[in-house]
Amino acid sequence: MKSKLNFNTNWEYAEAPENRDHIQLNKQYDLFINGQFVAPTKGKYFNTLNPATGKKLASIAEGTAEDVEKAVQAARHAYDKYWSKLSAKDRGKYIYRIARLIQERAREFAVIESLDGGKPIRESKAVDIPLSAAHFFYYAGWADKLDYAFPNRRSSPVGVAGQIIPWNFPLLMAAWKLAPALATGNTVVLKPAETTPLTALKLAELLQEADLPPGVVNIVTGAGATGAAIVNHPDIDKIAFTGSTEVGKLIQNSIAGTNKKVTLELGGKAANIILEDATIDQAVEGIVNGIYFNQGHVCCAGSRLFVQESIEDLVIQKLKDRMETLIVGDPLDKNTDIGAINSKSQLETIEKYIEVGKGEGAQFFQSSCSLPSTGGYWCRPTLFTQTSQSHRIVQEEIFGPVLAVQSFRTFEEVLTKANNTFYGLSAGVWTDKGSKIFKMTNKLRAGVVWANTYNKFDPTSPFGGYKESGFGREGGLHGLLPYLNLN
Ligand code: ADP
Repeated sequence: MKSKLNFNTNWEYAEAPENRDHIQLNKQYDLFINGQFVAPTKGKYFNTLNPATGKKLASIAEGTAEDVEKAVQAARHAYDKYWSKLSAKDRGKYIYRIARLIQERAREFAVIESLDGGKPIRESKAVDIPLSAAHFFYYAGWADKLDYAFPNRRSSPVGVAGQIIPWNFPLLMAAWKLAPALATGNTVVLKPAETTPLTALKLAELLQEADLPPGVVNIVTGAGATGAAIVNHPDIDKIAFTGSTEVGKLIQNSIAGTNKKVTLELGGKAANIILEDATIDQAVEGIVNGIYFNQGHVCCAGSRLFVQESIEDLVIQKLKDRMETLIVGDPLDKNTDIGAINSKSQLETIEKYIEVGKGEGAQFFQSSCSLPSTGGYWCRPTLFTQTSQSHRIVQEEIFGPVLAVQSFRTFEEVLTKANNTFYGLSAGVWTDKGSKIFKMTNKLRAGVVWANTYNKFDPTSPFGGYKESGFGREGGLHGLLPYLNLN
């Protein structure tokens, strides 16, 4: 690896590819409706690709409004007939069973997640799959304790939930949506993203294995039109959506004037703030984790960095040095830090923003690492310094490994700058002083604020945004609320 470093990082890593022999993928996947895999009404299929090669992994059914109709009917029937009548304790047992089966098949899920989505196997193994299982475990525990969660209130399920999820954490987003919905006694029609449907379909197989009553969870694959059919279906009681602010606004418009409940988890442009008393090496590692690992495909990615002026040069130098050591490579290689960009169109978006940043006059830096020549979609970790609040790369969500840096002098200045965004999903603060952490976390308009760490998740803590990052919370006790009527 080439390096401009002042210390020796000329490491050569031997390839360490994760074994793929144990995974089973079908050539074609149908829709999962009423406990069975069924062909789509119009007989249409689309391809899901491996973003590391651009090659096809499987054909996926394209669900139409007719298929959504069948799925909603199955969910309503299952709700009326079984799920709302089952004791809360028994509901919990099913959810525990799902959690345990995910744990048992964790390796298989991790490999498929990395194949279909492009994220490094290290991330899928250490984060996505264990956290998915943890979510099911956590909400299984709540199923028969709702009276304790909401004392002196009578809770009842909302009914049939329509859930639409994005491609950045495919199984984890499915778990975030399904676990609280099932624990509170709802049934579900779930739509995975069109570029990453495989782990949701594997989950459907696992639900069959868990003997979940037919129709309790239905999985309808497809693109935006399939999602819109779910949103507009009159017999859906609640919409849970994670995705772009643009589609979130469309959804809100579509359901205006209906009785549907809705939660929206949308985009972000998180500020990661380093104060001069921070432990700099730790902070640099946190910045790298916040924006480069996972290709920046995280809605809470720390994509804006604010560095106090007195330490700016040092932080930027250390950051550049660290960037030079990052390995962009095969998602299935255990050495890989940055995998493949999820799709060609996402790579085009990122490349467009890189050009925008250069055009705006910001100073551009990219690591000199080599990119795989496998035909997939790749992007080097990218840094823009000397950016300003008015730059588009500072204001707009890029959803790639692109960091925009600004410096600041005072506490008040950085708070104003950090809050000067349409979004409000997350933020990070790095400082040695607890008092500064409290002051910052009180004043930052972001749903989650990490202190001296970044991108850490736990099923017990609620997650969600302010402003154009959406509303409603997922995770924790708060995550039960959107799926319940409370009297
Ligand atoms: P991204 O830009 O991150 O791909 P999107 O908001 O486009 O995010 O997609 C998130 C999810 O929303 C995906 O499952 C996608 O298929 C779905 N989707 C896209 N358009 C619509 C729509 N008009 N109505 C409902 N769902 C949609």
